[in-house]
Order: sequence, then C-alpha cells, then structure tokens
Amino acid sequence: MKKKLIAGNWKMNGSLAANDALVKALLAGLPAGASDVALCVPSVYLAQLQDLVRGSRIELGAQDVSAHESGAYTGELSGAMLKEFGVRYAIVGHSERRLYHGESDQLVAAKAKSALASGVTPIVCVGETLAEREAGKTEEVVKRQLAAVIHANGHCISEIVVAYEPVWAIGTGKTASPEQAQQVHGVLRTQLKAASAQADRIHILYGGSMNAANAAQLLAQPDIDGGLVGGASLKAQDFLSIIAAAA
Ligand code: PEP
Repeated sequence: MKKKLIAGNWKMNGSLAANDALVKALLAGLPAGASDVALCVPSVYLAQLQDLVRGSRIELGAQDVSAHESGAYTGELSGAMLKEFGVRYAIVGHSERRLYHGESDQLVAAKAKSALASGVTPIVCVGETLAEREAGKTEEVVKRQLAAVIHANGHCISEIVVAYEPVWAIGTGKTASPEQAQQVHGVLRTQLKAASAQADRIHILYGGSMNAANAAQLLAQPDIDGGLVGGASLKAQDFLSIIAAAA
C-alpha cells in the first residue's frame, strides 16, 4: 500500500516569525515516517522554508506555477525557478485560483504540464460548487476538470497528484462525509485507470475542512490517499494530529 500524503496549504498566510515557530513545532512533534508530509507555502517564503526543513522529511510545495517556461509573464514563477528552491509539489487549479483568477480547465492542464516538465509534481485540484452538487452535476464537473489534465499530459498522468476539493467544503467547516468523498474519489480513480495502467499509484487527496477530528475516518476510505489541508495546517497540533491519523 502506498504511503498517505498530507499536504498543508498555507494560502496567503504567514510571516517570517510565524513560519519559524510553526515549522519548528512541526519538526519537534512529527511522528515516525509512516506518511509523506508537504507544506505548500507562499512563494516568498520558499527560501526560508528550504532552510527550516532541510534534512527533515517535510517536502516543500508551491501554491501555483506558470504554464510558461520564461519570458514576459509579470508576476509568474516558472517550474524551474521553484525547483531551484527545492520545491517538490505545486498546487494547480485550486478553486480559489479558478474563482478569483479565472483559471480555466485548459490553463490548469497547461500548468500541470509545465510543472511535470520541470520535475515538480502538480497537485491538481478538482471539485464542484454547492450549486453544481445540488444540481446533480458533481461527477460531470470533476470528470471534465480532470479530463483536461489527462488530455494535456498523456502517459505522464501517473506522475500527478489529484486533490478532490468540494468547493462548498473549503474553509467553511463543512466536510464531505467519508462516503461522499469516497464516492467521488472512486469516480476519479476509474477515470485515471482508463487513462493509465499505473493509476493505482496516483495519490488522490481529499481537501475541504479536514481537521484533527474528521481526518481518520476520511483517510480510512479506500481511495483517499491523503489530505490537502488548509486552515488546520496553520496550527501545529492540529496538523500533527492529521499526520498521525494518516500513519
Ligand atoms: C484548501 O485550501 O485546499 C483547503 C482544503 O482549505 P480548508 O482545509 O481550510 O478547507
């Protein structure tokens, strides 16, 4: 069985002092290595984090990556730049970027491709809004979002991480039930299997108000291979409890 992956998404939070305290508390409390752990931090803090996690089993992640290699793309960061700071993962297509930055399925797929080309593993987020769920469109939406990434990445698809993040559960305190989450993860696994003979090795993470209290039940589902954790990743004890639940 593959190790679970617990990735924290700090979003636009942190400061030099707060990061230092949080990472030191995580390193002091990290349980023995039964799961993989990553922190996806604001890019300006990558150098700081690279120093803080050096020699530990915490991997570094970014929260976005450009679809382009280099050039006149003000404000963007390439996969190669992230790689220079020891970045292993880059979140792409987070619902906040789809919503506030108008990112399309095609752009998200191009970002995943660009990350892979640089040796950075994209964590591809998919998920339905509450209106889409209530209209019975959950499967259609997540399959469409993932299909764009499969189409653009062909056989490399076995190198990605997928995160199922129902938009209505992100930062709201509402979590998908383990059964609701497993149902969608099963759909995504089937879609990945149709695209790759190695789909079983792909991590499909759940994200959406995962916390110390609900993590164990979610992580016990057969197709839930870890978590993408927002709010709870900013509190050392909560994040450590989730990591322990994944062990
Ligand atoms: C996220 O931002 O990816 C997320 C899942 O946030 P939260 O855990 O706060 O719902």
